[in-house]
Amino acid sequence: MSFNEKIRAMYVEQIEGIKDAGIFKQERFIHSAQDADIEVEFPTGSSLKKVINMCANNYLGLSSHPEVVKAAHEGLDTRGYGMSSVRFICGTQDIHQELERKVTEFLGTEDTILFPSCMDANAGVFEAILTDEDIMISDRLVHASIIDGIRLCSAMHDTFKHSNMIHLEKKLLLHADKRLKVVITDGVFSMDGDTAKLDEMAELCEKYDAMLFVDDSHATGFIGKTGRGTHEKYGVFGKIDIITTTFGKALGGASGGCVSGRKELVELCRQKARPYLFSNTIAPVVVSGVLKVLDILSASTERRDKLEKNTAYWRKGLTEAGFVLKDGDTPIVPVMLFNAKLSQNISNDLYDEGIYAIGFFFPVVAKGQARIRTQISAGHEIHHLDKALSAFTKVGRKYDILGKTKQEIIEMYGL
Ligand SMILES: *Cc1c(COP(=O)(O)O)cnc(C)c1O
Repeated sequence: MSFNEKIRAMYVEQIEGIKDAGIFKQERFIHSAQDADIEVEFPTGSSLKKVINMCANNYLGLSSHPEVVKAAHEGLDTRGYGMSSVRFICGTQDIHQELERKVTEFLGTEDTILFPSCMDANAGVFEAILTDEDIMISDRLVHASIIDGIRLCSAMHDTFKHSNMIHLEKKLLLHADKRLKVVITDGVFSMDGDTAKLDEMAELCEKYDAMLFVDDSHATGFIGKTGRGTHEKYGVFGKIDIITTTFGKALGGASGGCVSGRKELVELCRQKARPYLFSNTIAPVVVSGVLKVLDILSASTERRDKLEKNTAYWRKGLTEAGFVLKDGDTPIVPVMLFNAKLSQNISNDLYDEGIYAIGFFFPVVAKGQARIRTQISAGHEIHHLDKALSAFTKVGRKYDILGKTKQEIIEMYGL
């Protein structure tokens, strides 16, 4: 069958439906390197606007750091542009192996295997290490890529209520008869910025002979005293069986991911994980960049310390201005607005004030939970944060939401 007009009309209708629902996503074009100050074209065709970026995963400000860029150039010069092969044929260089060693050391695990992305790591890992005699028990708010990995795996699946340890224990008891049990969580949850209770989870896993899986994509490089991740923060460094993470956020922000953990599990991924076997790995230029990032982070905690200070300053400023925030201490700081339209209006007004922060609403977050998710970076200076705070305050005043409670905001704007 060809793509005839009837088929086209069906797809047009589907796209129109997305528009009618008010959830049509439009890209904004950035005409500069990723940094605290960026130049944005929005809407498409309009002239460029200089704005302060408050919505990148560039937590450590390394996405266009001169030393990282220089290392990437060197990688390009000495190892070339592309691999033209998957890992097990002729797609592995010495630097890929070096990166796996360095990530293992950084995360405090036994071994590491690189993937083209963390999405691919999560898609491949469960199928590689579990069978239909096993059970995966996941937090209800895990990242979409984990949900896909679970779908691709023949093991049974169950969930527990978000961060609810009593419910998790119930599920571990319920599935006591299964051959292998894996408890699955994000380290830091990207929408609310809260952290998984890894100390309690590790204890429960030990009690019920379950393995613990943590996706630390929003944590690696900056959570914990030396930035090793959520396991460091909760005193369970070295005790997580499987960690997946990305190089596409704090660690330079280019691309790539990995599975890191028990060496037999990593070996099975090398033998069986399909995104590893059938897709090119990370390009040499990116490997060189990530190696430099790990050097920088291992030499000094300066960047994660600055990020921690910036985050505290930002949370305090917004709270004093009278906004409703989600509690927490990570650099993901959601400003709660509850109403979807209000979050869009405030995002647009902030943009006019030179602040780039995006509104999130259903289906990205639950209905009635609309928000502007701000993300702090070590690339921000105090003057950036001060400018952003005064813009938030100005716009907050316009909509009369400063000092108002959740209930009052909902009464004014509805859900
Ligand atoms: C961003 C993210 C991913 C995907 O990472 P990529 O390397 O970009 O594929 C996976 N898991 C979590 C929790 C994430 O936040």
